[in-house]
Amino acid sequence: MNEVVSKLAPFGLDEEGLVSLYPEKLLLRKEAFNALEQLRQLARLFGFEIRVESAYRSFDRQISIWNRKAKRELPLLDERGQLITRSIDDPEELVKTILIWSALPGASRHHFGTDIDIVDASSIPEGYEVQLTPEECNGMFKPFHDWLTREIESGNSFGFERVFIPGRGKIQPEPWHLSYLPAARIFQKEFNLQLLKGLYSETDIACKEVLLDQLDDLAKDYIFPYFL
Ligand SMILES: [Zn+2]
Repeated sequence: MNEVVSKLAPFGLDEEGLVSLYPEKLLLRKEAFNALEQLRQLARLFGFEIRVESAYRSFDRQISIWNRKAKRELPLLDERGQLITRSIDDPEELVKTILIWSALPGASRHHFGTDIDIVDASSIPEGYEVQLTPEECNGMFKPFHDWLTREIESGNSFGFERVFIPGRGKIQPEPWHLSYLPAARIFQKEFNLQLLKGLYSETDIACKEVLLDQLDDLAKDYIFPYFL
């Protein structure tokens, strides 16, 4: 992979070098794709079938998620994953609430095209729809995650590591989210908060005032702790 990427690449605005995953039909940077194929092969030896639930996500897609959550067209969940039903009128509180489970547009690691959300397809009961929750990781996917933890800790995960782990920033732990760090670091290096503010100014994004005003502080809790 090029050691230099375009200024807009960290924000989900550059799709060069993305390849399509089979059978998921999701997009991923070529280097991460190759590493994933190796991880998949290793997993098969242990009886697991890695399925990718989410990979590259564009800026526009994250804006759409953000705005729909702000308008309550998508459900808002609390830290425990429970549906919030009361109305939230204060935009600051709304921002913090969306951030419990959704990344700031332009600051999702899925914009890099190097990060994936994965499950073990072989342990999903028929007809079950995957939610990506802590309960699943402690339930049906526990053997898979225990195995994955061992491989990561012993350096056998082909460059993939977990980033949303307890004790880092304010994002809820996400054991299912893996980052292909050798490539992700290139995007992290190019990431620029001023540029992101400029993007927000030009975009129809919910709670724009709060975001422009507090982005530096939000970044300290929700972005930079995860730049490994
Ligand atoms: Zn993820």
